[in-house]
Amino acid sequence: MTVRVAVLGCGVVGTEVVRLLTTSAADLEARAGAPLELVGVAVRSLDTPRDPVVDRALLTTDAEALVDRADVVVELMGGLEPARSLLLRAIENGAAVVTANKALLGADGPTLYAAADEAGVDLYFEAAVAGAIPLVRPVRESLAGDAVTRVLGIVNGTTNYVLDQMASTGADLDLAVKQAQELGYAEADPTADVEGYDAAAKAAILASLAFHTRVSVDQVHREGIGAITAEDVAWAAETGHVVKLLAVAERVAATAEHPEGVVVRVHPALVPLDHPLAGVRQAFNAVFVQAEAAGELMFYGRGAGGRPTASAVLGDLVTVARHRVRGGRGPIESRYADLPVLGMGAAPTRYQVRMRVADRPGVLASVAAVFAARDVSIEAVRQADGDGTADLLVVTHTAPEAALAATVEDLTGLDVVDSVLSVLRVEGA
Ligand code: NAP
Repeated sequence: MTVRVAVLGCGVVGTEVVRLLTTSAADLEARAGAPLELVGVAVRSLDTPRDPVVDRALLTTDAEALVDRADVVVELMGGLEPARSLLLRAIENGAAVVTANKALLGADGPTLYAAADEAGVDLYFEAAVAGAIPLVRPVRESLAGDAVTRVLGIVNGTTNYVLDQMASTGADLDLAVKQAQELGYAEADPTADVEGYDAAAKAAILASLAFHTRVSVDQVHREGIGAITAEDVAWAAETGHVVKLLAVAERVAATAEHPEGVVVRVHPALVPLDHPLAGVRQAFNAVFVQAEAAGELMFYGRGAGGRPTASAVLGDLVTVARHRVRGGRGPIESRYADLPVLGMGAAPTRYQVRMRVADRPGVLASVAAVFAARDVSIEAVRQADGDGTADLLVVTHTAPEAALAATVEDLTGLDVVDSVLSVLRVEGA
C-alpha cells in the first residue's frame, strides 16, 4: 500500500513540506507504515522560480484534478477560496486532509468539521495555531480527560517581535514594525498581525478545542497593538510589566448578568515580569494553559517560518497516513458543551489606568470614589507630580470588563481628571 499525498501550495511552508517529504522519505515510511508518495504540488503559476528540491514535473495548476488523485490532501495555499472548495472536494472524495489555514478554520471551521465527520475522514490542523508548537493535539487529545479553564497565549510572532523591540530599544511602533518588515517577520501590509486578526483566528480555534464549543472568529473581541505607544511600554517596565498581545480564552461562571459561558479576546495586556509569558522574546510564541486537574502548562516554540511549520504539518501527515494504513480515525470536532460565547463585558480582568489629574488635595478621594461606585476595588495607586498637574496610575483588582470600562468612562467626566492617558489590561498576575 502507498499513501498518495497531494500538496496544495508551494510557498514558504509548502516548499519545506516537499523538502521533508523528499529527504526523509525512508523515515516517514517507517513511521507511517507505508510509503508516502508525493503525487503532485498545486501552484498558481508554473513560471514562478522554485527551490530545486521541488521536482517541476510534479507542479500543476489544476488543483482539482490533483485532489482527485490523492489519499491525503495537504492544503498550504492559505486564504478562504479556493482552499475551502478544494478541501471539501477532498473530503467528499474520502481523502484525509491536513491544513495550516487558520484564516479558513477561524472563519468557517464548522463547515469543514461537519463534512469530515460525515465522510468519516481525518481533518488535522496542528500547524494552524502557533506553527511548530504541539498545541492542537495536546488540547484536543492529551487534555481530553481534563477541564480547561483558561488559555492565555502569545500566538502572533510578528507583534511579539514588535513589542519586544519597543521594550528593548525604546523604539516607537512604526519603527519597530519597519524593523520587523526588514527582517522578514512582518508582511509588507502588516494589518493582519498588527490589528490582531491573525491572533483572533487562532484564538477562535483554540477556544473551540479547549471548551468543546463552536467559536468563530467574529465572536472574538479583538484589539490590535496599533495604539500602543513607546510611553506605554516604558511605563510597563516602570511598574514591573511587559506589554504583550495576548489571546485569552476562558470559561466564566454564571452571574446575575450572564449565564456560564466562554469569553474569547485578543488585546494588548500588561504581563508581570515574573510570569512565564513575559520571558517570551522576539518572534517566539507561547501558550499557557490552565486546567482543573493538570494545573498550569506552558507550550513554547516557533510559531511561524517554513521549516518549523512544516514540522507540524508532517506530524499530522504521518498521523493521518497511519490511520489510512492501520484503520481508525483521529478525533472529530467536539462541541457537546455548547457553551454560550459571551461578550467582552463578561471578561474578568484588571486595569491599569494612567491619568493626568489636578494636583490638589482631595483628588485621590474623588478618583477612588468613582472606582468604588462601580464596585471596582483598587490594588495600588502611584502618583508622579508635575507643574500644577499630576500623573496618577491606578491598578485595580479583578473585576468584570463591563464595570472597568464604565469606571473609565466615569473618570473622563470627572472635573479633577484632565485626561485619561492610557488604559491597559493586566493579565497573568
Ligand atoms: P505562501 O508562501 O504565500 O504560499 C502560498 C502558495 O499557495 C504558493 O505556492 C501559491 O502559488 C499557492 N497558491 C495560492 N493560491 C493558489 C491557487 N488559487 N491555486 C493554486 N495555488 C495557489 O504561503 P505560506 O506562508 O506558505 O502559508 C501557507 C498556509 O500556511 C497559510 O494558510 C498560512 O496561514 C499557513 N501558515 C503559514 C506560516 C508561515 O510561517 N508562513 C505559519 C503557520 C501557518 P504560487 O507559488 O504559484 O504563487
